[in-house]
Amino acid sequence: MRLRHKPWASDFIAEQSEYAVTNPEQYKGKWHELFGNHHPIHIEVGTGKGQFLAGMAQKNPDINYIGIELFDSVIVAAIQKAVDLKIPNLKFLNVNANNLSEYFAPGEIDRVYLNFSDPWPKSRHAKRRLTYKSFLALYEEILVKGGEIHFKTDNQGLFEYSLLSFSEYGLLLKYVSLDLHNSDYEGNVMTEYEEKFSEKGQRIYRVEAKYMNEGSQE
Ligand code: SAM
Repeated sequence: MRLRHKPWASDFIAEQSEYAVTNPEQYKGKWHELFGNHHPIHIEVGTGKGQFLAGMAQKNPDINYIGIELFDSVIVAAIQKAVDLKIPNLKFLNVNANNLSEYFAPGEIDRVYLNFSDPWPKSRHAKRRLTYKSFLALYEEILVKGGEIHFKTDNQGLFEYSLLSFSEYGLLLKYVSLDLHNSDYEGNVMTEYEEKFSEKGQRIYRVEAKYMNEGSQE
């Protein structure tokens, strides 16, 4: 993603306290209080400009959504969407996914979405891929037992790597699609990257990966 420095971004984020949470550590274990209900919470890691979560939150008002994005210059567009559309079940965090367990308590999250994650094609950068085993351990920590990761990408190399990484971690792979837009999957909400790549004729890959840890704790 080409990043343009936006010197006003941090002030904008601080002003949009209804949608941008600037002190997420304080809500660890208490996100339901912030949303004012006990609906399930789904997060998207690397949410970019937020089109996917805005669409999902409008479509599923009984699910709370939180978008995690590293760059303030990118997340401002996502926050602006929530402000314009007044979406009550949507929040954004301008933080690094490496620190997810500082913001969410064990079992607090019901699903993780990864959409068009940066592929980091060089093997020496494998640890940065959001489907690397250390990230899978982090998601496991904050997800409910039997929680799921839903992953989409246009990148065949990242998809193959991720299937292997999920599988080696012991996740159950479901609904593997090698061509999502020509499959019978219904209700797909497109991300910004998905629109861009599919317009160029690229195939979209998708998989759901489920943690097999149900019943492993008393
Ligand atoms: N999901 C969006 C979409 O499909 O249109 C954006 C995809 S973009 C290629 C990947 C995004 O993930 C970037 O905005 C990047 O800043 C973000 N990202 C990458 N690593 C991250 C991390 N460790 N923590 C939070 N965000 C991250």
